[in-house]
Amino acid sequence: MSDHSSPTGSYDIVVVGGGIVGLATALALSATPGRRILVLEAEDGIAAHQTGHNSGVIHAGLYYKPGSLKARLCAEGRAELEAFCEAEGIPFERCGKLVLATDPGQLEALDALEQRAAANGLVGVTRLGPEAIREREPEARGPAALLVPQTGIVDYRLVAAGFARRLAERGVALWTGAALETCVRRHGRLVLETRRGEVTTLLLVNCAGLQSDRVARRCGVDPGVAIIPFRGEYQALTASGRHLVRHLIYPVPDPRLPFLGVHFTRRIDGEVEVGPNAIPALARHGYRWRDIDPRDLWEMALWPGTWKLSASFWRTGLGEIWRSLVPRAALGDMRRMLPAIGPADLRPAGAGVRAQAVGRDGKLLDDFHIVEAPGMVHVLNAPSPAATASLAIGRYIAARAETQLGG
Ligand SMILES: Cc1cc2nc3c(=O)[nH]c(=O)nc-3n(C[C@H](O)[C@H](O)[C@H](O)COP(=O)(O)OP(=O)(O)OC[C@H]3O[C@@H](n4cnc5c(N)ncnc54)[C@H](O)[C@@H]3O)c2cc1C
Repeated sequence: MSDHSSPTGSYDIVVVGGGIVGLATALALSATPGRRILVLEAEDGIAAHQTGHNSGVIHAGLYYKPGSLKARLCAEGRAELEAFCEAEGIPFERCGKLVLATDPGQLEALDALEQRAAANGLVGVTRLGPEAIREREPEARGPAALLVPQTGIVDYRLVAAGFARRLAERGVALWTGAALETCVRRHGRLVLETRRGEVTTLLLVNCAGLQSDRVARRCGVDPGVAIIPFRGEYQALTASGRHLVRHLIYPVPDPRLPFLGVHFTRRIDGEVEVGPNAIPALARHGYRWRDIDPRDLWEMALWPGTWKLSASFWRTGLGEIWRSLVPRAALGDMRRMLPAIGPADLRPAGAGVRAQAVGRDGKLLDDFHIVEAPGMVHVLNAPSPAATASLAIGRYIAARAETQLGG
């Protein structure tokens, strides 16, 4: 990854976070020529956290509450993302997905999803019966499914790298290994201390994902939420099992939970992954059970929302932990969708950690959430489908920043 140093430490806008949302925001802001923009990334390369550890799905925009930012920006962003990939030669495929009901008790929820698809303007979503399901996915079983033709797959690391290339062409500076450490106001500007030295700026945009609440606090802003990390573990189908899945197969989601449930995803490189589950992580960068960060745990314990959330979801949480530790239990769930799958068809794959904003009242924030302060825009909840929606959410954040700049 190229690292474009700037001859000066003085900028108009500094974007904190070189994930897909920060890069897309910088891209939107750099559409106005003549601005001095810097992207600060804490790690040694871009897309090191959520952006580089996700399912690689271009979401259709099926699930989201009509009128929500998620619904609107997913639809806009999906079209823009496909156009960007075409222009940049980044491989993607609009392969469609099945949302599969595995027992008659889920048919009502499937009906509701079909209505939501229509309310969100998705055309061509089709209801399939058992025969049609088998024609599309020969090993999948269930009384009914929705076929969503708009869903696609892509590698978001390549998309992020494409955004970074465009930023370099526009003269936007990108500093890696440059975590923001402090931010103070001085003479009408913000003075930022980073691991690579001091810079000043008129405006700061915080897109720090798993660290976004901390970055807000470091800037003297009460974020009003805490980021609680939820690990999503994946398994991959072995060579013997890969024939079991042709495209994407999702369960009918539990509307009380913000995550979509373990699904089968063919990735753009041909691998098929199963996951992600949703386990409270013991560190913000807790990609494995043994990754434990006492400071992260202490802060979680101090946040009142953590305890209220645990009180509401302890049963679901324990189930997820059980399935993470006991592979046979997870296999049982997979078999409901794909009865032919066996232990030999699976091997452990990677994991991602979701940055989930939780309020003081223990509520999980569902929609994208932005908090503003003078000279600052803080993005405090950018969960899935933020990768799909990145170009649209980047424009949306940039518009908020433009208002601050008086543009
Ligand atoms: C398991 C999983 C599966 C998902 N699947 C999908 C999917 O299939 N489709 C989809 O659309 N979305 C999906 N998502 C959601 C999507 O990946 C995220 O919404 C999106 O990547 C968020 O991007 P971001 O830039 O906000 O965060 P990130 O990618 O986490 O980027 C934040 C960046 O900020 C940096 N940073 C943190 N602190 C500092 C600091 N102090 N100074 C400088 N930099 C800092 C971090 O190092 C990081 O690079 C998934 C997410 C997960 C975790």
